[in-house]
Amino acid sequence: MTGGPLVEQGLERYQNAVMGTFGRPQRVLARGEGSYVWDADGNRYLDLLGGIAVNALGHADPEWVAAIAAQAGTLAHASNFFATEPQIALAERLLDISGAPEGSRVFFANSGTEANEAAFKMARRTGRTRILALEKSFHGRSTGALALTHKAAYREPFAPLAPGVEFVPPNDVAALTAAMGDDVSAVFIEPIQGEAGVVPLTHEFLQAVRDLTSQHGALMIADEVQTGIARTGQWLAMQAHGIQPDVVTLAKGLGGGFPIGAVVAFGHDAATMLTAGQHGTTFGGNPLASAAALATLNAIENRGLLAHVKAMGEWIKETVGALPGVVEVRGEGLLLGIKLESDISAAVAAAAIDAGFIINPPSPDTIRLAPSLTLTRDEAQPFVAWLADHLAAASAASKDNA
Ligand SMILES: *Cc1c(COP(=O)(O)O)cnc(C)c1O
Repeated sequence: MTGGPLVEQGLERYQNAVMGTFGRPQRVLARGEGSYVWDADGNRYLDLLGGIAVNALGHADPEWVAAIAAQAGTLAHASNFFATEPQIALAERLLDISGAPEGSRVFFANSGTEANEAAFKMARRTGRTRILALEKSFHGRSTGALALTHKAAYREPFAPLAPGVEFVPPNDVAALTAAMGDDVSAVFIEPIQGEAGVVPLTHEFLQAVRDLTSQHGALMIADEVQTGIARTGQWLAMQAHGIQPDVVTLAKGLGGGFPIGAVVAFGHDAATMLTAGQHGTTFGGNPLASAAALATLNAIENRGLLAHVKAMGEWIKETVGALPGVVEVRGEGLLLGIKLESDISAAVAAAAIDAGFIINPPSPDTIRLAPSLTLTRDEAQPFVAWLADHLAAASAASKDNA
């Protein structure tokens, strides 16, 4: 199964009309329902990537669709000269689920990049010049967020980027301690480095980031664009560590597929860093996006998805982790990196889509799963069986060649 004639025609038109920043897409998708999507030729796929940790409730969730339709028919957009009920309610809700103390505030953006851009400007407002970020980090593609992103291939064609950012190795407390000083405005981290291949930061390291930033009067900024909003079985991945950063950025899963980003600033000092006129966006937190996010948060809570995500994550770790050819399964909840014995993740992902499974190879030896939070064992089981067969066949083939 490699799509069909309608997929082929669509990809041809895509390549003649859409800028080539993403290369050739794998398929043209036409619709989705729950954990499945269908391509333009009607082939079905189990979506184990969830639009890269975005489609929290799966595809076309009826409650989410109804909330968006109702809001679109009531008030879709108002400028930021006006407040709206969905926006106010969403800000209150985000403070609540974040466990944010008195004085905390939310800023709304439209993407993860923009949320990090706002956090970057908060760091600048400290008046200090240095910012620390981690090797292998990914924080987005704007020239500010890109300055925080480690990968040379993403950065170098666009130099000079925003100055002042230095990279330290993840999970290296000594290196962090050495780099820290009273001229550091902020330390940016991802609790689990998603784009790096689902690489968790250790509790010890996260605690060191918290202690050192507090000691030096710098901001601890946790980019939870990928890990936030129940992805790891907690509202925020940082909650599992019992560590409260000064700033958390959110996006991907927040709108359940509707574009929205947010910055949660913890406590009065962080929350008052950006004052009237210092930052803004036309679309950020408009009532349509806010209604989509509220519907997503309500469904996660009402359906008990935090516990479900934890249980599913444990089950996948156990079953997939026991397969021959799998070294380990990293991550938490439904953000998982399956580390393979050899650098075959791209080939496995290519074979998977032909077999009807959407997965992703963020690094040469790792497959990432970030499915909808509603994924069930029955839905996932055929993938586990396929992966077992595929890895066994790949191992036999490589032994024949040796
Ligand atoms: C995806 C991602 C971003 C960028 O978000 P966009 O919505 O693509 O701009 C930033 N940080 C992390 C950790 C991400 O996973």
